Amino acid sequence: MASMTVLLGILLGVLIPVDMLPVQNSTGVHEGKLRLKRKYSGEIYEEDEITDRDQMTAMDQILEVNSRLRAPRGLSFREGDIAYSYVRSAINCPGSACLWPKSIDGFVYVPYIVSPLYDDMDRITIETGMQEISSGTCIKFVPRTHEASFLDIQPRYGCWSFLGQTGGSQTLSLQTPGCMWSGIAAHEFMHALGFVHEQSRSDRDHYVTIVWKNIMPAQMHNFRKQETNNLNSPYDYSSVMHYGRYAFSEDGGPTIIPKPDPYIPIGQRDGPSALDLHKINVLYNCGVNE
Ligand SMILES: [Zn+2]
Repeated sequence: MASMTVLLGILLGVLIPVDMLPVQNSTGVHEGKLRLKRKYSGEIYEEDEITDRDQMTAMDQILEVNSRLRAPRGLSFREGDIAYSYVRSAINCPGSACLWPKSIDGFVYVPYIVSPLYDDMDRITIETGMQEISSGTCIKFVPRTHEASFLDIQPRYGCWSFLGQTGGSQTLSLQTPGCMWSGIAAHEFMHALGFVHEQSRSDRDHYVTIVWKNIMPAQMHNFRKQETNNLNSPYDYSSVMHYGRYAFSEDGGPTIIPKPDPYIPIGQRDGPSALDLHKINVLYNCGVNE
């Protein structure tokens, strides 16, 4: 009987707190709060790391890695991972000025070199990111032979890229192991192809609410709209170029809320979405030989 009481006590002790937990939806939001606050402030993970990692978007991970990033000399970053130099002050890519040239055979060849500092697994991850783009578009990433303009992929500090082709050698940083997800590689390659983040689109206010009061004041510039060519493509909540819901959150509250349905999932880390590939095909006139 005594053991029965003990057992009951244990059961109640276990059951009562569970019973008091909020329902699933609000739990998700609450966990998100804790999660993002911890991540961006660079503190140590706690026991919910594994489930949280499953929910992270490519951009969540990029911002986590880059949260301690200091720009190399002469460079600055906007939107968390788009590099620009003070010398080349243009931070957008007007018209087709920064596009990679199209070859007569209809493909767009993007030459690259990969740092010898990467190991085999890193190289596979990076090449997978390339294939995720090339398999659905006319973009072909090719090892550089003699080309004057090329991507120089290096494990510098952070995950970042310049926007579009800059001319000459252009660094694209994929830190190892922090940036070693093929979806992150694909995200940075899309910057190098000329794409900004999805929520920077000129028409984004029709699709998301930016919750300015929840954004760290010093990071508000990352939410500026850009003069973008939207390529007659629908707004894509599942773009690999979309910020996560809690990007740059000050107090853990959401900074981006989809509308009209606030529960639409935004961002992901699996690689380019079907619409991402479609937009690359439109931007580069894939299927149209010139
Ligand atoms: Zn980015």
